[in-house]
Amino acid sequence: MERTLQGISASPGIVVGPVHFLRWEVPDIPQHILADDAVEDEILRFHDARERARERLHHVRDRAAKRAGPEEAQIFEMQELLLDDPEMLKHVESLIRHSLGAEQAFHQHMSDWRQAFSRHASAELRERVGDILDVEIRVLSLLLGLPDHDPVDVPKGANAVLVTHDLTPSLTVQLDREAIAGIATDAGTRTSHIAILTRSLGIPAVVGLRDATARLRGDELVILDGTAGTLNVNPTAEEIQRYRERAADEAIRESELSSLVDVEAVTLDGVRLTLRVNLDLPEEAELASRSGADGVGLMRTEFLVLSRTTMPDEDEQYDAYSRVVRCFPGQAVIIRTFDLGGDKLPVGGYPHEANPFLGWRAIRMCLDQPDMFKTQLRAMLRAAEHGDLRILLPLVVSIDEVLATRTLLREAASELASNGVPHKTSVPLGVMVETPAAALTADAMVDEVDFFSIGSNDLVQYTLAVDRGNANLAERFTPLHPGVLRLIKRTADIGRARQLEVCVCGEMASDPLTAYALIGLGITHLSVAHRAVPLIKRLVRNMSVKDAEESMGKALKSGSAFAVGAVLQASLDRIAVAGEVALAHPAELG
Ligand code: PEP
Ligand code: MG
Repeated sequence: MERTLQGISASPGIVVGPVHFLRWEVPDIPQHILADDAVEDEILRFHDARERARERLHHVRDRAAKRAGPEEAQIFEMQELLLDDPEMLKHVESLIRHSLGAEQAFHQHMSDWRQAFSRHASAELRERVGDILDVEIRVLSLLLGLPDHDPVDVPKGANAVLVTHDLTPSLTVQLDREAIAGIATDAGTRTSHIAILTRSLGIPAVVGLRDATARLRGDELVILDGTAGTLNVNPTAEEIQRYRERAADEAIRESELSSLVDVEAVTLDGVRLTLRVNLDLPEEAELASRSGADGVGLMRTEFLVLSRTTMPDEDEQYDAYSRVVRCFPGQAVIIRTFDLGGDKLPVGGYPHEANPFLGWRAIRMCLDQPDMFKTQLRAMLRAAEHGDLRILLPLVVSIDEVLATRTLLREAASELASNGVPHKTSVPLGVMVETPAAALTADAMVDEVDFFSIGSNDLVQYTLAVDRGNANLAERFTPLHPGVLRLIKRTADIGRARQLEVCVCGEMASDPLTAYALIGLGITHLSVAHRAVPLIKRLVRNMSVKDAEESMGKALKSGSAFAVGAVLQASLDRIAVAGEVALAHPAELG
C-alpha cells in the first residue's frame, strides 16, 4: 500500500497518533435462514446485544453529561428507551421465529421505523430518525462483533487521528478535543463545512482522501499533516523526526506572523482595507479578538444548534452574541442568522431531501418558522445594546426575503419594547451574496440593505454547479472562474456606486492568491479565518491596489480559471520578490 495518502489540506498542524476509525453507518448484514432449533438461542443473542448496547449508552451518557451537561446527555437517554420499546421487541422476536437472523430481523424493524418516522408530519418525530439510526448501528455492530467505533467515546489523552468517510458538523462539535488530535476524511474539500469547522476549532485536518477508510485497517500509527494535506501511514522513526522538525518550523513561522497583529492593513499605495475575522463558535471570540482583525465579518450561528436536541432559547443566544460583541468594543460584529440545512443538520436531522443544498435551508427555513426566527432576532437586538452588532441573512435570492425579515425585525423589537427589555430598535441589516440570483439582483436590493457580504463558497458552488463538499470535484471548484469573478465584480461595482460596504467572507478571502484577485476587483472588506488574519495582512502590506486592479483587468480577458490564476500568480510572485516575503501557498492557510 502507498504509505502516504494525499488529500486536501483543511486545517493546518501536524499530529502523530494512532488511527481511530469511525464507521458510523449501518453495516453490511449477512443473509441467512435459521434452523428451527437455533431460534431460541438467536433470540437470546439479540437480547444480549441489546443489553450490551444499553451498557455502552449508559457509559456514553455519563461522559456526555460530565463534559457537556445534562441536556446533551438527554439524547442518549432517549436512545436507551428505544432499546426497550415493546412493539419493537415483539416484532423482532417474531421475525426471528420466522427464521430470520437477529441482525436481519432487527435491521428490518429499525429501517421500517426510520422510513415511517422520516415521513411523519410532526417535526419532533422526524427528528427521532437520527436516534433510531444510532441505536440500529450500535446493536448491529455488537451482533456482528465489529470493533467499537463510537464517535464520542475515545479515551482522553489518546491523541488519536479520527479517520472516517465523512463527518457531519454535528458530530464534529461533539468530539472530545482531549481525545481526538486530528481528523482525516475520505470526503470533503477546503470549503466544505467540516473543513471550515476544523479550522475554527484548531484541529489539524485533511479531507478529500477519497478511500483512506478502505485502505487502512484501523490499527496503524499515522502522521497527519494538515498543512500539506497528507496522511503518512506507519511512519519510520526518521519520518516522525522530520515531521517534528516541520511542526517546529511552523510554530516559528506563526510567531513571525504574530508581529503583524498591531499593524494596519494598508497597501503600498496607501489604501486602508478592512480585515475582519470569521467565527464559528462564541468561544473563539477571545482568541480571535487578539488576531489584529477589525471586528467580526461573519459569525455563523448555526453551530450553536448542531449537536443538540433542542434549539437554544433567547437568553442562551443573547449570552452567546453578547459575549462576541463585548470582545470587539468599537468594532463591527456581523452575526448571521441560522444557516441550517444543507449539510448543517441538527441532531436527528431534518426531513429527507433529494437535494439538500437546493432545499429547505437558511433564510427559507427561518422565514417559514417565524417563532424560531424571531427568538433569534430578539436575542440579536438585545445583544446589540453592547456594541456594533449587525445582522446578516444567508442564502438570499430575492428582495422579498429581506422585506419579510424587516417585518419580523420590527415585530421582534416591539415585543421586546412591550416587555420592557433593553434592546436596540434597529441595527444594520445585510445580505449574503452567495447565489447568482443575489449577485444579479444586487441592484434591486441595494436600497433595502445596509451592506453586502459575498459568500464565495456557495457562490462558486451555485455558479459552477459544483458541490463544494465533493472530493471528486475538488479540482473543478475554481473560485477564479471568470463567471464567478464577474458576479463578484458586479456586486462590488453596485456597492461602490452607492457607497455601500461589500465584504467577502467566503474562503476566497483567506487565500493570498484569491484575496489578491478580490482586491483587484474592487473589494475593500475581507473577512477571514482568524489564523489567516496576519497572512492576509502581510499580503496587503506588500501589494498595491493599482497593481492588483491592472492584473485583474488583464486576467479577466481570459476565459478560464486556469488562465486567470496564471496572470495573478505572476503578479503575486513579483510582489513576493520585491517585498522579500514568502506569500504562502493556500495549503499553509488556517
Ligand atoms: C459562503 O458560502 O461563502 C459562506 C461564507 O457561508 P458558509 O461557508 O457558512 O456557507
Ligand atoms: Mg454560504
